[in-house]
Amino acid sequence: MDYQFYDTYSNTKKSFTPLDASNVRMYVCGPTVYDYAHVGNARPVIVFDIVYRMLNLKYGAEHVTYVRNITDVDDKIIEASNSLNEDISTLTERTINYFHDDASYVGALQPNVEPKATDHIPEMINIIEKLIKKNHAYEADGNVLFAVNTFDKYGNLSGKSLEDLIAGSRVEVANYKKNPADFTLWKPSKANEPGWDSPWGKGRPGWHIECSAMSEKYLGQTFDIHGGGQDLTFPHHENEIAQSESCNDKKFANFWMHNGFLSIEGEKMSKSLGNFITINELKDTYQGEVIRFNMMLTHYRQPLNWTEKSLLDSKKTLDKWYKIIGTYDKPLASKSDLISQKMLSALADDVNTPQAIAELHQLYKVANDGDVDALEIFYNSCQFLGILISDYNSWSSWQSKTMDIDENLINGLIEKRNEARSAKDFPEADRIRDELLNLGVILEDKDNKTTWKLK
Ligand code: AMP
Ligand code: ZN
Repeated sequence: MDYQFYDTYSNTKKSFTPLDASNVRMYVCGPTVYDYAHVGNARPVIVFDIVYRMLNLKYGAEHVTYVRNITDVDDKIIEASNSLNEDISTLTERTINYFHDDASYVGALQPNVEPKATDHIPEMINIIEKLIKKNHAYEADGNVLFAVNTFDKYGNLSGKSLEDLIAGSRVEVANYKKNPADFTLWKPSKANEPGWDSPWGKGRPGWHIECSAMSEKYLGQTFDIHGGGQDLTFPHHENEIAQSESCNDKKFANFWMHNGFLSIEGEKMSKSLGNFITINELKDTYQGEVIRFNMMLTHYRQPLNWTEKSLLDSKKTLDKWYKIIGTYDKPLASKSDLISQKMLSALADDVNTPQAIAELHQLYKVANDGDVDALEIFYNSCQFLGILISDYNSWSSWQSKTMDIDENLINGLIEKRNEARSAKDFPEADRIRDELLNLGVILEDKDNKTTWKLK
Protein backbone atom coordinates (compact mmCIF):
# COMPACT_ATOMS: atom_id res chain seq x y z
CA MET A 1 0.00 0.00 0.00
CA ASP A 2 1.34 3.39 -1.02
CA TYR A 3 1.92 5.77 1.90
CA GLN A 4 1.35 9.47 1.33
CA PHE A 5 2.72 11.99 3.81
CA TYR A 6 2.39 15.73 3.85
CA ASP A 7 5.81 17.34 3.51
CA THR A 8 6.12 20.80 5.04
CA TYR A 9 9.13 21.64 2.87
CA SER A 10 7.29 21.30 -0.44
CA ASN A 11 3.85 22.03 1.04
CA THR A 12 2.44 18.98 -0.69
CA LYS A 13 1.29 15.51 0.11
CA LYS A 14 3.82 13.17 -1.48
CA SER A 15 4.11 9.47 -2.03
CA PHE A 16 6.63 8.01 0.41
CA THR A 17 9.52 6.04 -1.08
CA PRO A 18 12.42 5.42 1.31
CA LEU A 19 15.99 6.05 0.24
CA ASP A 20 16.77 2.48 1.23
CA ALA A 21 13.92 0.08 1.98
CA SER A 22 16.28 -2.08 4.03
CA ASN A 23 16.94 0.85 6.38
CA VAL A 24 14.09 3.36 6.58
CA ARG A 25 15.16 6.27 8.76
CA MET A 26 13.20 8.74 10.85
CA TYR A 27 14.40 11.43 13.27
CA VAL A 28 12.07 13.25 15.66
CA CYS A 29 13.06 16.09 17.98
CA GLY A 30 12.55 14.93 21.53
CA PRO A 31 12.08 16.69 24.84
CA THR A 32 14.21 19.23 26.64
CA VAL A 33 14.48 17.62 30.05
CA TYR A 34 14.02 19.93 33.00
CA ASP A 35 10.45 19.25 34.13
CA TYR A 36 7.45 16.98 33.57
CA ALA A 37 6.25 16.94 29.95
CA HIS A 38 2.79 18.38 29.28
CA VAL A 39 -0.03 16.91 27.20
CA GLY A 40 1.04 19.02 24.20
CA ASN A 41 4.44 17.30 24.31
CA ALA A 42 2.65 13.94 24.18
CA ARG A 43 1.26 14.80 20.76
CA PRO A 44 4.47 14.30 18.74
CA VAL A 45 5.23 11.23 20.87
CA ILE A 46 1.93 9.63 19.83
CA VAL A 47 1.80 10.92 16.24
CA PHE A 48 5.28 9.71 15.32
CA ASP A 49 4.72 6.46 17.18
CA ILE A 50 1.90 5.79 14.71
CA VAL A 51 4.15 6.69 11.77
CA TYR A 52 6.79 4.35 13.24
CA ARG A 53 4.24 1.51 13.50
CA MET A 54 3.20 2.13 9.89
CA LEU A 55 6.83 1.96 8.72
CA ASN A 56 7.44 -1.18 10.78
CA LEU A 57 4.41 -2.86 9.25
CA LYS A 58 5.38 -2.07 5.67
CA TYR A 59 9.15 -2.47 5.75
CA GLY A 60 9.64 -4.80 8.75
CA ALA A 61 10.70 -3.57 12.18
CA GLU A 62 14.28 -4.71 11.60
CA HIS A 63 14.46 -2.35 8.59
CA VAL A 64 13.38 0.82 10.35
CA THR A 65 15.48 3.13 12.51
CA TYR A 66 13.64 5.66 14.61
CA VAL A 67 15.78 8.17 16.49
CA ARG A 68 14.31 10.56 19.05
CA ASN A 69 16.86 12.70 20.83
CA ILE A 70 17.00 14.14 24.31
CA THR A 71 18.10 17.73 24.78
CA ASP A 72 19.94 17.68 28.10
CA VAL A 73 21.89 20.93 27.82
CA ASP A 74 19.93 24.16 27.50
CA ASP A 75 19.31 27.51 29.22
CA LYS A 76 16.05 26.25 30.71
CA ILE A 77 17.84 23.28 32.25
CA ILE A 78 20.48 25.53 33.79
CA GLU A 79 17.77 27.82 35.17
CA ALA A 80 15.80 24.92 36.65
CA SER A 81 18.92 23.40 38.20
CA ASN A 82 19.74 26.74 39.85
CA SER A 83 16.27 27.36 41.14
CA LEU A 84 15.87 23.80 42.48
CA ASN A 85 19.44 23.75 43.73
CA GLU A 86 19.82 20.37 42.07
CA ASP A 87 22.81 19.13 40.15
CA ILE A 88 22.18 19.27 36.37
CA SER A 89 22.78 15.60 35.68
CA THR A 90 20.54 14.54 38.59
CA LEU A 91 17.81 16.84 37.27
CA THR A 92 18.09 15.61 33.67
CA GLU A 93 18.26 11.91 34.64
CA ARG A 94 15.22 12.31 36.87
CA THR A 95 13.31 14.08 34.08
CA ILE A 96 14.31 11.49 31.47
CA ASN A 97 12.83 8.81 33.73
CA TYR A 98 9.60 10.81 33.98
CA PHE A 99 9.51 11.14 30.21
CA HIS A 100 9.98 7.39 29.72
CA ASP A 101 7.15 6.68 32.13
CA ASP A 102 4.93 9.16 30.30
CA ALA A 103 5.75 7.74 26.85
CA SER A 104 4.97 4.20 27.93
CA TYR A 105 1.80 5.39 29.69
CA VAL A 106 0.48 6.68 26.33
CA GLY A 107 1.48 3.39 24.68
CA ALA A 108 4.40 4.65 22.59
CA LEU A 109 7.00 2.12 21.47
CA GLN A 110 10.61 2.89 22.39
CA PRO A 111 12.55 4.49 19.53
CA ASN A 112 15.55 2.47 18.32
CA VAL A 113 18.00 5.14 19.47
CA GLU A 114 17.51 7.86 22.05
CA PRO A 115 20.71 9.88 21.96
CA LYS A 116 21.51 12.56 24.50
CA ALA A 117 23.03 15.84 23.36
CA THR A 118 25.77 15.81 26.02
CA ASP A 119 27.06 12.47 24.70
CA HIS A 120 27.64 14.00 21.25
CA ILE A 121 29.69 17.15 21.82
CA PRO A 122 32.70 15.98 19.72
CA GLU A 123 30.37 15.30 16.75
CA MET A 124 28.93 18.82 17.10
CA ILE A 125 32.39 20.41 17.29
CA ASN A 126 33.36 18.47 14.19
CA ILE A 127 30.45 19.89 12.15
CA ILE A 128 31.13 23.41 13.42
CA GLU A 129 34.78 23.14 12.39
CA LYS A 130 33.76 22.03 8.90
CA LEU A 131 31.30 24.92 8.63
CA ILE A 132 34.02 27.41 9.60
CA LYS A 133 36.40 25.89 7.05
CA LYS A 134 33.76 26.21 4.36
CA ASN A 135 33.06 29.86 5.33
CA HIS A 136 29.51 29.12 6.44
CA ALA A 137 30.35 30.02 10.03
CA TYR A 138 32.58 32.46 11.88
CA GLU A 139 33.90 32.98 15.38
CA ALA A 140 33.19 36.14 17.35
CA ASP A 141 33.99 36.69 21.05
CA GLY A 142 34.05 32.95 21.86
CA ASN A 143 30.78 32.44 19.99
CA VAL A 144 30.51 30.65 16.70
CA LEU A 145 27.71 31.80 14.43
CA PHE A 146 26.22 30.44 11.27
CA ALA A 147 26.23 33.02 8.48
CA VAL A 148 22.73 32.69 7.03
CA ASN A 149 23.52 34.62 3.86
CA THR A 150 25.88 31.80 2.81
CA PHE A 151 22.97 29.39 2.43
CA ASP A 152 20.70 30.16 -0.52
CA LYS A 153 17.83 28.01 0.67
CA TYR A 154 17.59 29.71 4.07
CA GLY A 155 13.89 30.27 4.84
CA ASN A 156 12.57 27.66 2.37
CA LEU A 157 11.12 25.33 4.98
CA SER A 158 9.24 27.97 6.92
CA GLY A 159 8.46 30.10 3.87
CA LYS A 160 10.27 33.14 5.27
CA SER A 161 12.51 35.41 3.25
CA LEU A 162 15.91 36.39 4.57
CA GLU A 163 14.97 40.09 4.29
CA ASP A 164 11.93 39.56 6.55
CA LEU A 165 14.03 37.61 9.01
CA ILE A 166 16.63 40.34 9.16
CA ALA A 167 13.95 42.98 9.62
CA GLY A 168 12.31 40.87 12.34
CA SER A 169 15.49 40.24 14.31
CA ARG A 170 16.80 43.81 14.51
CA VAL A 171 15.44 44.49 17.97
CA GLU A 172 17.91 42.66 20.17
CA VAL A 173 20.88 41.93 17.99
CA ALA A 174 24.16 41.05 19.64
CA ASN A 175 26.84 43.33 18.20
CA TYR A 176 29.18 40.47 17.36
CA LYS A 177 26.78 39.19 14.69
CA LYS A 178 27.64 40.02 11.08
CA ASN A 179 24.04 39.65 10.10
CA PRO A 180 21.17 40.03 12.58
CA ALA A 181 19.65 36.70 11.48
CA ASP A 182 22.85 34.68 12.07
CA PHE A 183 22.34 32.01 14.70
CA THR A 184 24.53 30.44 17.38
CA LEU A 185 26.38 27.18 16.86
CA TRP A 186 28.55 27.47 19.96
CA LYS A 187 28.63 29.87 22.89
CA PRO A 188 30.94 30.45 25.84
CA SER A 189 29.91 28.98 29.19
CA LYS A 190 29.97 31.01 32.36
CA ALA A 191 31.98 29.64 35.28
CA ASN A 192 28.98 27.92 36.93
CA GLU A 193 27.51 26.56 33.70
CA PRO A 194 28.19 23.22 32.00
CA GLY A 195 30.95 23.57 29.44
CA TRP A 196 33.24 21.56 27.19
CA ASP A 197 36.68 22.37 25.83
CA SER A 198 36.59 23.38 22.21
CA PRO A 199 38.78 25.21 19.67
CA TRP A 200 36.83 28.35 20.72
CA GLY A 201 37.34 27.98 24.45
CA LYS A 202 35.16 26.38 27.11
CA GLY A 203 31.59 26.53 25.94
CA ARG A 204 28.42 24.71 25.01
CA PRO A 205 26.52 24.02 21.81
CA GLY A 206 23.51 25.88 20.47
CA TRP A 207 20.30 23.85 20.36
CA HIS A 208 20.08 23.39 16.57
CA ILE A 209 23.52 21.85 16.07
CA GLU A 210 22.58 19.00 18.44
CA CYS A 211 20.03 17.57 16.04
CA SER A 212 22.27 17.98 12.98
CA ALA A 213 25.00 16.00 14.78
CA MET A 214 22.83 13.26 16.27
CA SER A 215 20.77 12.64 13.13
CA GLU A 216 23.92 12.35 11.01
CA LYS A 217 25.55 9.97 13.44
CA TYR A 218 22.65 7.52 13.58
CA LEU A 219 20.92 8.03 10.23
CA GLY A 220 23.55 9.38 7.85
CA GLN A 221 23.78 12.68 6.02
CA THR A 222 20.47 12.18 4.23
CA PHE A 223 17.51 10.36 5.71
CA ASP A 224 13.80 9.83 5.06
CA ILE A 225 11.64 11.63 7.60
CA HIS A 226 12.30 14.43 10.05
CA GLY A 227 9.50 15.21 12.46
CA GLY A 228 8.51 17.44 15.34
CA GLY A 229 5.91 19.94 16.47
CA GLN A 230 4.88 22.80 14.20
CA ASP A 231 6.63 25.36 16.40
CA LEU A 232 9.98 23.79 15.51
CA THR A 233 9.69 24.66 11.81
CA PHE A 234 11.35 27.99 12.50
CA PRO A 235 14.00 28.55 13.66
CA HIS A 236 14.98 25.04 14.80
CA HIS A 237 14.40 22.97 11.66
CA GLU A 238 15.31 25.78 9.29
CA ASN A 239 18.65 26.03 11.08
CA GLU A 240 19.21 22.27 11.12
CA ILE A 241 18.81 22.26 7.32
CA ALA A 242 21.20 25.21 6.90
CA GLN A 243 23.89 23.55 9.04
CA SER A 244 23.65 20.03 7.65
CA GLU A 245 23.23 20.91 4.00
CA SER A 246 26.03 23.49 4.10
CA CYS A 247 28.30 20.99 5.81
CA ASN A 248 27.59 17.99 3.60
CA ASP A 249 26.36 19.51 0.32
CA LYS A 250 23.54 16.97 0.40
CA LYS A 251 19.82 17.11 0.96
CA PHE A 252 19.20 16.67 4.70
CA ALA A 253 15.74 15.09 5.03
CA ASN A 254 13.33 13.95 2.32
CA PHE A 255 10.13 14.53 4.28
CA TRP A 256 9.40 17.13 6.94
CA MET A 257 6.39 16.20 9.07
CA HIS A 258 5.00 18.57 11.70
CA ASN A 259 2.20 18.02 14.17
CA GLY A 260 -0.24 20.84 14.92
CA PHE A 261 -0.60 22.38 18.31
CA LEU A 262 -2.66 21.24 21.20
CA SER A 263 -4.57 24.03 22.85
CA ILE A 264 -6.58 24.35 25.97
CA GLU A 265 -9.46 26.79 26.16
CA GLY A 266 -8.40 27.98 22.70
CA GLU A 267 -4.88 28.89 23.82
CA LYS A 268 -1.70 27.01 22.89
CA MET A 269 -0.68 24.77 25.78
CA SER A 270 2.81 25.76 26.86
CA LYS A 271 4.96 25.98 29.93
CA SER A 272 5.59 29.68 29.45
CA LEU A 273 1.85 30.48 29.36
CA GLY A 274 1.35 28.38 32.49
CA ASN A 275 -1.81 26.75 31.05
CA PHE A 276 -0.49 23.23 30.88
CA ILE A 277 -1.57 19.85 32.22
CA THR A 278 1.28 17.42 32.72
CA ILE A 279 0.93 13.90 31.40
CA ASN A 280 1.87 12.70 34.85
CA GLU A 281 -1.07 14.38 36.56
CA LEU A 282 -3.50 12.58 34.23
CA LYS A 283 -2.31 9.17 35.37
CA ASP A 284 -4.60 9.01 38.38
CA THR A 285 -7.61 10.09 36.36
CA TYR A 286 -7.40 8.20 33.06
CA GLN A 287 -5.80 5.10 31.65
CA GLY A 288 -3.07 6.02 29.15
CA GLU A 289 -5.04 4.51 26.26
CA VAL A 290 -7.73 7.14 26.81
CA ILE A 291 -5.16 9.89 26.25
CA ARG A 292 -3.82 8.12 23.18
CA PHE A 293 -7.27 7.48 21.70
CA ASN A 294 -8.37 11.04 22.35
CA MET A 295 -5.28 12.35 20.59
CA MET A 296 -6.00 10.16 17.56
CA LEU A 297 -9.48 11.61 17.11
CA THR A 298 -7.94 14.70 15.52
CA HIS A 299 -5.77 14.63 12.42
CA TYR A 300 -2.16 15.28 13.43
CA ARG A 301 -1.78 18.46 11.38
CA GLN A 302 -4.94 20.05 12.78
CA PRO A 303 -5.06 22.04 15.99
CA LEU A 304 -6.39 19.93 18.83
CA ASN A 305 -8.55 21.38 21.56
CA TRP A 306 -8.13 19.41 24.78
CA THR A 307 -11.40 19.00 26.65
CA GLU A 308 -12.53 16.87 29.54
CA LYS A 309 -15.70 16.06 27.64
CA SER A 310 -13.85 14.41 24.78
CA LEU A 311 -11.66 12.48 27.22
CA LEU A 312 -14.76 11.07 28.85
CA ASP A 313 -16.21 10.18 25.44
CA SER A 314 -12.96 8.44 24.54
CA LYS A 315 -13.07 6.51 27.79
CA LYS A 316 -16.67 5.41 27.05
CA THR A 317 -15.78 4.20 23.56
CA LEU A 318 -12.83 2.21 24.86
CA ASP A 319 -14.97 0.70 27.65
CA LYS A 320 -17.43 -0.47 25.01
CA TRP A 321 -14.69 -1.81 22.74
CA TYR A 322 -12.91 -3.62 25.56
CA LYS A 323 -16.15 -5.26 26.54
CA ILE A 324 -16.76 -6.94 23.19
CA ILE A 325 -13.24 -8.37 23.23
CA GLY A 326 -13.20 -9.24 26.93
CA THR A 327 -16.52 -11.04 26.89
CA TYR A 328 -15.82 -13.10 23.76
CA ASP A 329 -15.49 -16.72 24.87
CA LYS A 330 -12.29 -17.69 23.00
CA PRO A 331 -8.90 -16.06 22.93
CA LEU A 332 -8.53 -13.97 19.77
CA ALA A 333 -5.64 -14.50 17.39
CA SER A 334 -3.07 -11.75 17.30
CA LYS A 335 -1.89 -11.46 13.69
CA SER A 336 -0.65 -8.52 11.70
CA ASP A 337 -2.20 -9.86 8.49
CA LEU A 338 -5.62 -9.44 10.09
CA ILE A 339 -5.39 -5.65 10.20
CA SER A 340 -8.23 -3.87 8.43
CA GLN A 341 -7.20 -2.74 4.95
CA LYS A 342 -9.71 0.09 5.11
CA MET A 343 -8.16 1.35 8.31
CA LEU A 344 -4.70 1.08 6.78
CA SER A 345 -5.81 3.02 3.69
CA ALA A 346 -6.96 5.78 6.00
CA LEU A 347 -3.58 5.83 7.72
CA ALA A 348 -1.75 5.62 4.39
CA ASP A 349 -3.45 8.89 3.49
CA ASP A 350 -1.23 11.16 5.58
CA VAL A 351 -1.88 9.33 8.85
CA ASN A 352 -5.60 10.02 8.88
CA THR A 353 -6.31 8.65 12.36
CA PRO A 354 -9.85 10.08 12.68
CA GLN A 355 -10.81 8.21 9.50
CA ALA A 356 -9.02 5.10 10.79
CA ILE A 357 -11.13 5.27 13.96
CA ALA A 358 -14.30 5.75 11.91
CA GLU A 359 -13.41 2.47 10.16
CA LEU A 360 -13.00 0.81 13.55
CA HIS A 361 -16.48 1.99 14.59
CA GLN A 362 -17.86 0.33 11.43
CA LEU A 363 -16.00 -2.91 12.18
CA TYR A 364 -17.24 -2.84 15.74
CA LYS A 365 -20.83 -2.71 14.49
CA VAL A 366 -20.36 -5.75 12.29
CA ALA A 367 -18.52 -7.60 15.07
CA ASN A 368 -21.26 -6.71 17.51
CA ASP A 369 -23.75 -8.37 15.17
CA GLY A 370 -21.88 -11.60 15.77
CA ASP A 371 -19.38 -11.67 12.90
CA VAL A 372 -16.32 -13.39 14.40
CA ASP A 373 -14.03 -12.60 11.45
CA ALA A 374 -14.85 -8.93 11.84
CA LEU A 375 -14.17 -9.23 15.57
CA GLU A 376 -10.68 -10.60 14.91
CA ILE A 377 -9.93 -7.86 12.41
CA PHE A 378 -11.29 -5.27 14.80
CA TYR A 379 -9.10 -6.57 17.61
CA ASN A 380 -5.91 -6.69 15.56
CA SER A 381 -6.54 -3.27 14.03
CA CYS A 382 -6.99 -1.73 17.48
CA GLN A 383 -3.81 -3.38 18.70
CA PHE A 384 -1.93 -1.98 15.74
CA LEU A 385 -2.96 1.50 16.82
CA GLY A 386 -1.84 0.76 20.37
CA ILE A 387 -5.28 0.39 21.92
CA LEU A 388 -7.07 -2.59 23.55
CA ILE A 389 -3.64 -3.77 24.63
CA SER A 390 -4.45 -4.25 28.31
CA ASP A 391 -6.04 -7.27 29.80
CA TYR A 392 -9.84 -6.87 30.01
CA ASN A 393 -10.05 -7.56 33.74
CA SER A 394 -7.45 -4.99 34.64
CA TRP A 395 -9.09 -2.49 32.27
CA SER A 396 -12.58 -2.95 33.67
CA SER A 397 -11.52 -2.99 37.30
CA TRP A 398 -9.40 0.18 36.94
CA GLN A 399 -10.64 2.96 39.18
CA SER A 400 -9.96 6.62 38.72
CA LYS A 401 -8.32 7.92 41.88
CA THR A 402 -9.48 11.47 41.36
CA MET A 403 -13.05 11.35 40.24
CA ASP A 404 -16.20 9.46 40.19
CA ILE A 405 -17.89 11.22 37.35
CA ASP A 406 -21.50 10.69 36.63
CA GLU A 407 -22.10 12.57 33.41
CA ASN A 408 -25.87 12.12 33.55
CA LEU A 409 -25.90 13.75 36.94
CA ILE A 410 -23.83 16.68 35.69
CA ASN A 411 -25.93 17.18 32.57
CA GLY A 412 -29.13 16.88 34.62
CA LEU A 413 -27.92 19.57 37.02
CA ILE A 414 -26.90 21.84 34.14
CA GLU A 415 -30.36 21.44 32.66
CA LYS A 416 -31.98 22.30 35.99
CA ARG A 417 -29.76 25.34 36.32
CA ASN A 418 -30.72 26.50 32.82
CA GLU A 419 -34.39 26.12 33.73
CA ALA A 420 -33.81 28.18 36.87
CA ARG A 421 -32.05 30.85 34.85
CA SER A 422 -34.88 30.99 32.30
CA ALA A 423 -37.31 31.42 35.17
CA LYS A 424 -35.01 34.17 36.50
CA ASP A 425 -34.55 32.16 39.70
CA PHE A 426 -30.91 33.22 40.04
CA PRO A 427 -30.38 32.09 43.65
CA GLU A 428 -31.36 28.55 42.60
CA ALA A 429 -29.11 28.77 39.52
CA ASP A 430 -26.22 29.85 41.73
CA ARG A 431 -26.92 27.10 44.22
CA ILE A 432 -26.70 24.49 41.46
CA ARG A 433 -23.47 26.04 40.19
CA ASP A 434 -22.04 25.68 43.72
CA GLU A 435 -23.30 22.15 44.02
CA LEU A 436 -21.43 21.25 40.82
CA LEU A 437 -18.36 23.07 42.06
CA ASN A 438 -18.45 20.88 45.15
CA LEU A 439 -18.39 17.87 42.82
CA GLY A 440 -15.27 19.31 41.21
CA VAL A 441 -17.08 20.56 38.10
CA ILE A 442 -16.59 24.09 36.78
CA LEU A 443 -19.23 25.61 34.50
CA GLU A 444 -18.63 28.06 31.72
CA ASP A 445 -21.36 30.06 29.99
CA LYS A 446 -20.49 31.28 26.53
CA ASP A 447 -22.66 32.16 23.53
CA ASN A 448 -25.80 30.88 25.26
CA LYS A 449 -24.18 27.53 25.87
CA THR A 450 -22.95 25.98 29.08
CA THR A 451 -19.90 23.76 29.00
CA TRP A 452 -18.15 22.11 31.92
CA LYS A 453 -14.72 20.95 32.91
CA LEU A 454 -13.16 19.33 35.93
CA LYS A 455 -11.49 21.45 38.53
P1 AMP B 1 10.01 20.87 24.04
O1 AMP B 1 10.35 19.97 25.18
O2 AMP B 1 9.35 22.14 24.41
O3 AMP B 1 11.22 21.10 23.11
O4 AMP B 1 8.92 20.13 23.14
C1 AMP B 1 8.99 18.78 22.77
C2 AMP B 1 8.07 18.52 21.58
O5 AMP B 1 6.70 18.85 21.91
C3 AMP B 1 8.39 19.38 20.35
O6 AMP B 1 8.24 18.56 19.18
C4 AMP B 1 7.33 20.46 20.37
O7 AMP B 1 7.07 20.97 19.09
C5 AMP B 1 6.15 19.71 20.91
N1 AMP B 1 5.13 20.57 21.54
C6 AMP B 1 5.32 21.48 22.53
N2 AMP B 1 4.15 22.08 22.89
C7 AMP B 1 3.18 21.51 22.11
C8 AMP B 1 1.75 21.69 22.00
N3 AMP B 1 1.07 22.54 22.78
N4 AMP B 1 1.08 20.94 21.08
C9 AMP B 1 1.74 20.05 20.28
N5 AMP B 1 3.08 19.83 20.33
C10 AMP B 1 3.80 20.55 21.23
ZN1 ZN C 1 15.75 18.99 16.84
